[in-house]
Parts: sequence; structure tokens; C-alpha cells
Amino acid sequence: MAVSLLAPVTALIDVVLPPRCPGCGEIVDGDDRFCASCFAGLQFLGPPQCACCGVPLPHDIDIAAQCGACLAEPPAFARARAPLVYGGPARQVVLALKHGRRLHLARLMARAMLRVAGAMPDDAVIVPVPSHRWRLWQRGFNQAAVIARQLARQSGRPLLVEGLERVKPTPSTKGLTRKARLKNVANAFRVPRPESVRGRTVILVDDVMTTGATVSACAAKLTKAGARQVEVLTYARTLREGHGDFAMIMAANA
Ligand SMILES: [Zn+2]
Ligand SMILES: [Zn+2]
Repeated sequence: MAVSLLAPVTALIDVVLPPRCPGCGEIVDGDDRFCASCFAGLQFLGPPQCACCGVPLPHDIDIAAQCGACLAEPPAFARARAPLVYGGPARQVVLALKHGRRLHLARLMARAMLRVAGAMPDDAVIVPVPSHRWRLWQRGFNQAAVIARQLARQSGRPLLVEGLERVKPTPSTKGLTRKARLKNVANAFRVPRPESVRGRTVILVDDVMTTGATVSACAAKLTKAGARQVEVLTYARTLREGHGDFAMIMAANA
């Protein structure tokens, strides 16, 4: 309760105090900027990467090259992109938005996400991964929807906040294998109005992609409802074991 009472105060402080680094809270010289040390700690993702899920690939074999996991079991989404590896300052940003109610961070997150999104097709519609009503009630907002709203604003593409609905809460998936996790979320979502996504490219938005089970389940439902294709866009993603070695660390970003 104390947290929700503090929210308006936090928002006010954001306006009157000097801008702070979203990673560590140091005062910086502009809005939405990382301090030099946090910036150096960001792990940017980029080519060479899997054409489908976006994991870093060791060699730039072919622009259409896919990772072993996508080849073995093609995901329900056409592609997934994230500007950053989940960890360090990127993790701080995600947590500050979700648990610290620093909603203005969605602006910086959306900007970074748009840099790796590529050209969005004309038929694109932006849909956030929904959170369950219980979570919404606890937290007061869905962080994916907050980011999606910023993406819609910055890209000019329409936002469909209720494109997907969560029909059951997913119990904690910590420690579960990928297979168990997939099973866990397979029927957690539904598309309440299929006509709103029919024939369109859905840009599915979340803060973090971990195993991909959640976005895969969402993408499967959207495709079944008639979406032309689903592209996943998250602010950060975790890398499976072994992938970290290939993470591209590029300093061409602010
Ligand atoms: Zn910092
Ligand atoms: Zn892949």
C-alpha cells in the first residue's frame, strides 16, 4: 500500500529533480541517459544473430541463418528481437519499471527497442503480453502495456492493449525446464476479439524474454486467431547457456 501512495510523489520528483541514470541513480546530464559506467555495462545484441529468435550466432554465415533451437522446433513467432541482454543496468531498468513504478523508463526502453525492430509493416498492430488480473490488481499496471504504449507513440502504429487476455495466472516457472514451462503457459492466453488481429502483423511486446515460452504461447494464439505473423519485441532477453559467449557488445548506442 505504501508503494502505491508514493507513486504520485515519485512522479513529481521525476519532474523537479535533475535527471538520473536509470541504471544506478547517479545524476546525469540529460533525460533517459545512462552514466558512463552503466553504459559500459550494457550488453547490446545485434548481428550475427538467428534470423528467427535473435540469439547471437558465432559466425555471420548467412543473413537467413537460424540457430539450432529454431531449426529443430520453429517457434510460433516469425522473429524476436531485443536490444539488450538481460543483466546489469538493463536488469535494473526492467526492475525499476516493474517494481519501482518508474513508468517514465518505458520511453527509453521503447526507443532502444525500435532501433532493433526494423521497419514495421503497414498492417502492424502493437499488442502487449497481458498480465493476470491478480497481478494487475497487486501492481496497478502491466509493464508490458506501459512499454507498448510508448512503442505505439514512437512508431505511429496502433496499440491494441486488449489484443490478448490472460485467462489463468501462470504459477512461478522458476526452475522449470523449457518443456514444462511451455506446457504451463500453453493455455494461459486467449484472443478476445480475433477480428482485431486478423490478417495483421502483430508486434508482441514484453519487458523481458527468458525461455520464450510466454511469447510462443501468445504467438500461437494470435496466429490461430488469424494474425498474418507475429514479431516479438522485448527490451531485454536472457541468453541460454553458451549463448553468453557470443553476446555482441557494441558501443554504438546511447
Ligand atoms: Zn549509472
Ligand atoms: Zn533462433
